[in-house]
Amino acid sequence: MAASSSSRSRPPSRTALAEQSAGRGVRLTRQRKILLDLIDKTGQHLDAERLYQLAKEKDPKLNRVTVYRTLKLLKEGGLVDELDLMHQAGEQHFYETRRKQEHAHVICLGCGKVEEFFGEPLQRLRKQIEAHFGFEIVLARTEVGGYCSHCQSLRAQELEKAAAAARP
Ligand SMILES: [Zn+2]
Ligand SMILES: [Zn+2]
Repeated sequence: MAASSSSRSRPPSRTALAEQSAGRGVRLTRQRKILLDLIDKTGQHLDAERLYQLAKEKDPKLNRVTVYRTLKLLKEGGLVDELDLMHQAGEQHFYETRRKQEHAHVICLGCGKVEEFFGEPLQRLRKQIEAHFGFEIVLARTEVGGYCSHCQSLRAQELEKAAAAARP
């Protein structure tokens, strides 16, 4: 029998998850702390190269290899999430802290702009999935691709131009 979702306490917050994971063996060395703080504070989705540039400003001794290795460690330790954001930037991956509240990424396939959607529907979806499959969700990643209002009007103009050109 599936446990009703209402009998469950709220899922642990991201912070709690991050702390659990931290207890699981990711020691916060100076380099790791620099990177984690950067990812935390910018609140943006930065790729490894950009993070390396920013980290180097804090500690000139940091090299690229260390930064990439550290990101991998933070990811494995459950402290950061690695995102591909619908591969809008090719093979590039982006990082964000797990301390942030769960959100969906809304990605414009035209200009690559990324919005974050926070809200109760995500928690509801999570609960429904858990109840439906008797599943315990540890992490959820929601990505939505489409066109922002700016790119929609650009596309409409282009279509119009193409239609006009095709007219005899
Ligand atoms: Zn756009
Ligand atoms: Zn995000």
